[in-house]
Amino acid sequence: MTPARKTPRGPAPTLRPIAPSYHPRQTEKTPPCQTGCPNCGDIRGWIGTVAQRAKLGLSREDAYERAWRIITDVNPFPSTLGRICPHPCETHCNRNQKDEPLAINALERFLGDFAIDQQLQLSRKRSATGGACVGVIGAGPSGLSFAYQLARRGHRVTVYDARDQAGGMLRYGVPDYRLPQDVLDAEIARIVNLGVELRLGVRVGRDVSLQDLRARYDGIYLGIGAQEGRALRIRGAEGKGVMIGTDYLAAVNQANAPELGEHVLVIGGGNSAIDAARSARRQGASVTIVYRRTRKEMPASQHEVDDALAEGVQLLELSAPLEIRRDSESRPREMLLQRMQLGATDASGRRGPVPVAGSEFTLPARTVVMAISQRPLLNGLSELDHSGDWLIADARGTVSENVYAGGDVLGLGIAGNAIVQGRRAAESLHARLVEGVQDDPSLPRPGIGPESIKFESREASAATRKPELPPRERVGMNMAEVSGNISEQAFLAETQRCFSCGSCFGCEQCQMYCTKGCFIRVEEPEPGMYFTLNLDQCQACGKCVEVCPCGFLDLTQS
Ligand SMILES: Cc1cc2nc3c(=O)[nH]c(=O)nc-3n(C[C@H](O)[C@H](O)[C@H](O)COP(=O)(O)OP(=O)(O)OC[C@H]3O[C@@H](n4cnc5c(N)ncnc54)[C@H](O)[C@@H]3O)c2cc1C
Ligand code: SF4
Ligand code: SF4
Ligand code: SF4
Repeated sequence: MTPARKTPRGPAPTLRPIAPSYHPRQTEKTPPCQTGCPNCGDIRGWIGTVAQRAKLGLSREDAYERAWRIITDVNPFPSTLGRICPHPCETHCNRNQKDEPLAINALERFLGDFAIDQQLQLSRKRSATGGACVGVIGAGPSGLSFAYQLARRGHRVTVYDARDQAGGMLRYGVPDYRLPQDVLDAEIARIVNLGVELRLGVRVGRDVSLQDLRARYDGIYLGIGAQEGRALRIRGAEGKGVMIGTDYLAAVNQANAPELGEHVLVIGGGNSAIDAARSARRQGASVTIVYRRTRKEMPASQHEVDDALAEGVQLLELSAPLEIRRDSESRPREMLLQRMQLGATDASGRRGPVPVAGSEFTLPARTVVMAISQRPLLNGLSELDHSGDWLIADARGTVSENVYAGGDVLGLGIAGNAIVQGRRAAESLHARLVEGVQDDPSLPRPGIGPESIKFESREASAATRKPELPPRERVGMNMAEVSGNISEQAFLAETQRCFSCGSCFGCEQCQMYCTKGCFIRVEEPEPGMYFTLNLDQCQACGKCVEVCPCGFLDLTQS
């Protein structure tokens, strides 16, 4: 009989708590450039498509087209906004913490101009399920954005505009030296090519009533902007030689600029005032902008103010007009003004102007342009719910059932805001009209700040800049475009400056440092997806998370 084998026994183990196990996790995050852009576009995605084109197996042209299609998913006007958007995306870019932000606006223009040169067309959504009839009032950027988003979902869209041409303030306000009309024409034509019908020269509320349109269409969008320029009620303001800023700019943009005379005073501190002053300079006048506060409080983009000053426009701060004095032929001769000083902070969050007693003075003035502000023109539309001057809508733009509004009619803004409001309203109406369709089911992703980016992984470099005509030459070149396009070389180099914050760009650092082979290369990579994870052998060393330069990997406790 074989004796029973004794199992060797060691000392009894001491019971300790089980240490938590950590492992890497891939988490896409929202970069601040995207949060800063009113359109919330996938900026990192389209820049990455170009920057990573070799890894993605794309030719340069294919990468450019794919990038343009990512932009136009939310914004059908990249060439236009690539010229005039004040680019809040750049202000938010993480690269600000290292050297200079990405030149996103210049990159956007490059792709927009590429698409115009190549005559690329906007495409319908694969799941175009529409079939409704929708009416749009206003062919500005907001109405056209709404029309585009519904047409690409398969709906029949008709856009009405009171003017002879589409484009709204982009056509009749922004001057050609900042936005040439053929660029706008090309971007509008692509929307029309999707089957959108334009009915121009029709004012809703006069030529056709809103009730008629409501009966005719399954949904209505009001993108009527703010067409009425405000006038200053001072003595002498009535009569020839005194104009509203937007009227003057509309005349300039239609090559019908009025005679100005030698001295032009422009009243106001916003974009319209700057555009009016720069246009008047191009007509050869001596131009002074009169502003009640100081330059610091001006709502116009700082870059635009710099350009105006460089072109010879004078800025008279802390001064307010009191009276326009006229000559024997009733033409303006001079303006009586009063000095101001800054007082307490007012409702606009800026320090308010307070008159300085006994400080009156005069300036010569042959023409006065009042570019103070605008408000919506609601003639024939007053049945709509409005608060003071502005229409009232909810966050999706809903005014009443299947009636939406967006853009400047809700409050003055920039073109990017008008475009995003048109898109959101279109998504909402589409979801309502096509039962069960919800366009935006995604949950918000976490953000990613500069503290998560390994800035030391790249050399410092300056951002590329759009070339510009020298200020002295611009004024003599009438409406010639001031800023040019960047070169292809500069474009490609600039895309390489992006840190791809919060999204994998395939640098392979994690794979190289992982001795356990946890990172498995995917066969068809795309921005954000180069490796999958197999953590069977993961030793929780955390090295991959440590080396990832863009903050895509997190160390997670399981
Ligand atoms: C001089 C100027 C310079 C600017 N510069 C910049 C800039 O550099 N960058 C920037 O981002 N933004 C700029 N803006 C702001 C930008 O142009 C506007 O925010 C934008 O155009 C608003 O778009 P919208 O579609 O809401 O309205 P709009 O562009 O005003 O378009 C509204 C359209 O509705 C039509 N309409 C109105 N009422 C009716 C009716 N009853 N029936 C039929 N049609 C009607 C109008 O004819 C117009 O075509 C500027 C604005 C101005 C005035
Ligand atoms: S639309 Fe304006 S904010 Fe958005 S990406 Fe373009 S430049 Fe930047
Ligand atoms: S570096 Fe690139 S991804 Fe990061 S914020 Fe700037 S543009 Fe966006
Ligand atoms: S280290 Fe490089 S390849 Fe790895 S997850 Fe981060 S960005 Fe992607």
